[in-house]
Amino acid sequence: ADSRMAEAAGRIIARLTDAGHEAYWVGGCIRDELLGRPVHDMDITTSAKPEAVMSLFPRCVPTGLQHGTVTVLEADFPFEVTTYRTESGYADHRRPETVAFVMDVKEDLRRRDFTINAICLGLDGRLIDPFGGAEDLRRRLVRCVGKAEDRFDEDALRMLRCVRFASTLGFGIAKNTWRGLLRRRDGLAHIAVERVYAELTRIMEGPRPLAGLGMLARSGLLARGKAPFPWTGEDLAAAAAGLAGIGELESALLRWALLLHALGATADAADGLMRAWTFPGATRRGVAQVLRVREAWTAAMAAAGPGEGPALGLRRRFLAAALAFGAEAAEGWLALLAAMPRSGPGAGLVPSARRWLDEMPVRGLAGLAVTGGDLAAALDRRPGPWLGELLQALLLEAAAGAVPNDRTALINEAKRMNRREQ
Ligand code: ATP
Ligand code: MG
Repeated sequence: ADSRMAEAAGRIIARLTDAGHEAYWVGGCIRDELLGRPVHDMDITTSAKPEAVMSLFPRCVPTGLQHGTVTVLEADFPFEVTTYRTESGYADHRRPETVAFVMDVKEDLRRRDFTINAICLGLDGRLIDPFGGAEDLRRRLVRCVGKAEDRFDEDALRMLRCVRFASTLGFGIAKNTWRGLLRRRDGLAHIAVERVYAELTRIMEGPRPLAGLGMLARSGLLARGKAPFPWTGEDLAAAAAGLAGIGELESALLRWALLLHALGATADAADGLMRAWTFPGATRRGVAQVLRVREAWTAAMAAAGPGEGPALGLRRRFLAAALAFGAEAAEGWLALLAAMPRSGPGAGLVPSARRWLDEMPVRGLAGLAVTGGDLAAALDRRPGPWLGELLQALLLEAAAGAVPNDRTALINEAKRMNRREQ
């Protein structure tokens, strides 16, 4: 871990224990430290009540007093310091109705979700690990603390956290935990879509999205959430064959695009789904544009006559799609094609298509060497809808290199097009 962060946390723990309380590092930071993974933040658990914590540390923010959490600032790092607590009465399968502060750290560890997240470390370097979390880290297993059915019943989001930890850490899921998940999967319907989306994103952005998708497919979890997911676990499993390269895509946006492509979603259907799943607007629009380029590309491949290569017509249609939906979306589609197992439609044309894009002399109306005003004057016509169409037609000619992007050449071409039209 960042040694300055660890030292700062150590000072907080020392201060609490000097004042007669118990205090430990707990949860994700211990798990990641034992795995040799980077630690991004450190949580502290203590027997001290929130008021006692606040009086010991003047630089603090009461971020979650009702469940015992005070954020303490030390060396400018924020640390969540939470009082030992138990939880009970999860009538809504989401959050406890009551939390009670307790004096025994084991009680606090018992309320935590998985054994690998239920380990404490003290200043003396000793682990407190009543549920065998260190052993499960060695065996690379995600296992519920206590009876899986009950724990998933209490809080259904834990099922997705289970898949998320298993896929991001490259772990398996303990047999009883998996069985409990299958039995309780309908509970996901109680969880807010935003929280489900947040876990899914972490699965998709993580190092093993394919493993996570496989677990989601086998569990049938997604179809049980509040938001629509019009595919079954079997559909998802069948799509997985086309997703072998998904982990090689750098951007989360392209990973989502590849998934929705493999599931056979149209751009419009994907857009509607992503809206329902509360995707951020930029991701949703970006994915939909990539799928629109895909639609133009597959239409062009289908339109190519037998015998003659598709490349000529494809080039124009592809550049037209790049102009309509954005060069970034066009590049995104090529990245998807390259990530598909050889069989993508026209995958062999990816290097050429990359070159077409790179060599495109103009990428939008702003770069075109004539304006609408120039054209209306040169043709002596009143501006109207024709003007936008003409500009787009000229833009495609210039982008395809058929006409130089130069004022005189473009005006001559405009006159030719105008005559042909009349
Ligand atoms: P990361 O921050 O890398 O996602 P983390 O383990 O720190 O991992 P957090 O969501 O930050 O996860 O939660 C901190 C700790 O709180 C967990 O390690 C776990 O002990 C406990 N915890 C979090 N969410 C739940 C939950 N839904 N049910 C039970 N315990 C939970
Ligand atoms: Mg955390």
